[in-house]
Amino acid sequence: MSTSLRRDEAIARARVVGSIHAEVDLDLGLGDWFTSRTVLRFAATEGAATFAEISGAGRDVRALLNGRELTADAFSDGRIQLRDLAADNVLEVSAELPYANDGEALHRHVDANDGSTYLYAMSFLDAAPRWFACFDQPDLKATYDFTVTVPEDDWIVRGNAPVAAQSGRQWKLATSKPLSTYFVTLVAGPWAGLSATHDGIRLELLARASVRPDLERSAEDLFQVTRDSFDAYHELFGVRYPFGDYVQAFVPDFNAGAMENPGCVVLRDQVLFRGAATRAEVMSRAGLVAHEMAHQWFGDLVTMRWWDDLWLNESFAEYMAHRVITATGRADLWVDFGITRKNWGSEADQGPGSHPIAGNGAEDAQGSLENFDGISYAKGASALRQLVSLIGDEVFLAGLRSYFDRYAWGNASAADLLACWTEAGAEGLDEWARAWLLTQDMDLLAVEGTDLVRQVPAEHPAQRVHAIEVAGLSSEGAELFRVPVVVTGDRQALDVPPADLLVPDAGDQTWARVRPSLPAARLPRISAVADPATRVVLYNGLRDGLRHAELSPTTALDLLLDSLPGETAPSITSAMLAWAGDLSGDWLEPGLRAGARARLAGVAQQLLVAAAPGSDEQLAAVRSLLATTSDAALLRVWLAGDDLPVGITLDQDLRWLAVHRLVMLGTDPGVIDQEYERDHTSTGRVAARRARTAVPDAASKQAALDLLVNAADLGNYELYAIAENLFLPEQHDLTTELVQQWADSIPALASRRGGWVLPRLVTGSAPSSHADPATRQLLEELARRSDLAGPPARPLAEVLARIDQVLSARSAG
Ligand SMILES: [Zn+2]
Repeated sequence: MSTSLRRDEAIARARVVGSIHAEVDLDLGLGDWFTSRTVLRFAATEGAATFAEISGAGRDVRALLNGRELTADAFSDGRIQLRDLAADNVLEVSAELPYANDGEALHRHVDANDGSTYLYAMSFLDAAPRWFACFDQPDLKATYDFTVTVPEDDWIVRGNAPVAAQSGRQWKLATSKPLSTYFVTLVAGPWAGLSATHDGIRLELLARASVRPDLERSAEDLFQVTRDSFDAYHELFGVRYPFGDYVQAFVPDFNAGAMENPGCVVLRDQVLFRGAATRAEVMSRAGLVAHEMAHQWFGDLVTMRWWDDLWLNESFAEYMAHRVITATGRADLWVDFGITRKNWGSEADQGPGSHPIAGNGAEDAQGSLENFDGISYAKGASALRQLVSLIGDEVFLAGLRSYFDRYAWGNASAADLLACWTEAGAEGLDEWARAWLLTQDMDLLAVEGTDLVRQVPAEHPAQRVHAIEVAGLSSEGAELFRVPVVVTGDRQALDVPPADLLVPDAGDQTWARVRPSLPAARLPRISAVADPATRVVLYNGLRDGLRHAELSPTTALDLLLDSLPGETAPSITSAMLAWAGDLSGDWLEPGLRAGARARLAGVAQQLLVAAAPGSDEQLAAVRSLLATTSDAALLRVWLAGDDLPVGITLDQDLRWLAVHRLVMLGTDPGVIDQEYERDHTSTGRVAARRARTAVPDAASKQAALDLLVNAADLGNYELYAIAENLFLPEQHDLTTELVQQWADSIPALASRRGGWVLPRLVTGSAPSSHADPATRQLLEELARRSDLAGPPARPLAEVLARIDQVLSARSAG
C-alpha cells in the first residue's frame, strides 16, 4: 500500500526539489507485468533529504541515487527515502510492475471480440507511481523522454509529446513540455486511428480496432467540434495550443468522462455510441470534447499548486465548454447543464460531503479525490457565470489572458487569478470570492407576496449577489413578461406587473434553490412553459422540494408523468424519464413500486406512439419502455425483430435492455448467454454481467455479492455492473436477507478495492431500495466500525443521507 501525500509534505518537498527531467523506459510485455525504468535528474538543496514515489506493489524494485544503490530500509509505503542530496542528482529506479484492471495507472484491456491487448495510462489523481517513479505532486513539473518497447509489430505508441522515432518495436517520443505527474499518459496497443490537420495542429482519433466502425461514424463530428473549439479558444485566450499534436483516444473501462492529458486526451469509448444516440447525447459529447480542450490551458498550461484549487481546472473547463459549444450554434448546451450537471452539484452542495468551491481544505491527495464532484464542476461554472455578469466579459477575458501569460508552464493559486482580474479592472473580488468560492451550500430564492426573498443557509452564511431574471407566467404557463433583477439583500420588493405565477431565476443563470410563487401542486403543466431554461428551473425546483420533503415522491411522480408527454427538449425528456424511473423505485414504499412502474411504462408507451419515427423522443421513449415494461411477450417479439415501431431498429444496446428486462420478469437466464454469443464484445461482456446480476433468485444474488467482494480478475466495469444490479427496487422482497450480508461484506470490500472504484462500489451496491429504520441502523453501525477508517466514510454518509431523504419525503404531503 502507499501513503497519500499530505499537503505539508508537498510544500516541504517543493522547497527542496526542482528542475526535474525524467527519462522513462518501459518494456511492455504481454504477461501480467511490465518493466519500468526511470531516471530522474533534478536539482536539490545540498545535504537535504526528501522522497520520491514508486508503487509498493512492484517486485525487483531497485534504486540508485547518484550511483549508490539504496538499501531495503529506504523503501516503504510506496516511497523511496532520499538522503544527503547533492545540488544536482540522478535517481535511477527500476521495477517490475503489475498492469492495472481498475482504470487507473497503466490499465490493460483485453478485447472480448478479438483478444487484442490495449493499454492506456491514467495518472490522475495519484496513480503515476504505479507505472513510473516520480515526485508525485502537481507543482513539481518535469520534462519527459519516453522510450517504449512493445510486444507486437502492429502496436502503436502515443503520449504527451509527438512520436520522434520508431525502430521495429521500439518507440521514442519527443521531449515533452513541463508536465505535472497527474496528467502524464501513454496509449499503446493495436489501436485504430484516423487523422486530420487543423491550423497547423495534427489531430488524431484512436479507438480499439473492434470498434473502428463506430469511430468512423463519429469522426466527422468529433473533428469538427475539435476544430471549432481550437478556433474559439485561440481567440478567447490569446495563447495558442502549446502541446504539439492533439490525440483523442477513446478507451474502454474509463472511470471518468475523460482525462485532459496534454496532447493525448483519453475519453470513455461509450461516447462513440455503437447504438442509436439522441442529438442531446451527441451535443453532450461535444461538450466533453470542448471541456478537455479547455483543460489544455486551464490545468495543463497553468496548473493549480495543490488540490484545494481543483476548481481552477474543473470550473473553468466546465464553463468554457458550455459557452463555446453553445456559441457554435449546435445547441444551447446550458439546458443540458441545468438539467443534468446542476442537479449533480446541488445534491453534493447540500449533502454530507459539501465543501466550498475553492480552498476546500484537501489535506491529502486521496481526500481531495472526494472533492472531485459536482461542486467543483457545476457550482463552479455557475459561479463563473455570475462573475462574468459582475465584472463584464471583457475584464473576465483580459484577466484570463494575463493569467496564462504570467503562469504558463508553472503553477498558480486562486489568489493569483483574482489578482489578474483585479489588474484588468475588476472590483469587489474579495467579497465575491468570500461569498461564492469560500462558502458552501445554497441560497434559496423565493417569492413571498410582492417580495423576492433570499434565504441564506444558517450554518454557512454568505452574502451572495445573484444576477437573475424574474418571469411572470399565466396560469396556463404562458410567459407574460421577464425582468432582470439583481438580488442584493434578504428581501426586496419586486416591481413587476401582476401574474398568476412568478418564477425567480427564470433564465437559470445562478446557483440557488428556487421556489416559484405557487406550490408544486398548483403549478401549470411544466412542459407548457415555452422557455426550456425556465422549465429546467421548475423541474429542479421539484427535485429540490423532494429532497427537502416539501412534496412526496408520489406527488413528484404525478406532476412529472403529467408533464412529460408535452416536453420538447430531448435532454430534459431523457433526464426526467430517468428521474421518473428513480421515483418509481427506491423512493416509494415497496408495495407501491409495481403500480408506479406500470404507470411509467404507460407514459413511455404514450410517448412512443406520439413520437416521430427516428426522432430523439422516440428513442428516449423506447429505452424507457424497455426498462419498465411488464410485457414479456412484447420483448420477445421485438428481440425477434418483429412488429417494431417504424423508425426503431433494435440495435445491440437496445437488445441488451430488452434482455435485462426479460430476465427480471423471470425468463430463463439462458437468454443472457445466447445474447453474449451474438454480441461477443467487451461491451457485451459487461451487459451480460449486468443481466446475470439481475436474475431474480437468491443464489444468483449471493454469487454476485461474492464476486463483488472477492473476484480478483474482474475489471472495474464488470464490478460496477454487479454493484448497480444487486439491490434493484423491484426485487425488494428477494433481497431482504441480503442487506445484512452486504453490510458484513463491506470491510472486506474496502480492504480489496481502492482508488476510484471503492466509493463507487459502495454507493452503487448499497441497499437504498431498503430505505427503512432497520437499514438505517445497520448503516450507522457500519459507519462506526473501526476497521473502516478511511475511504468508505463519505460514500456511507451519502447512502445514509439518501435514505433519510427518502424516509422524510415519503411522509410529506
Ligand atoms: Zn475536467
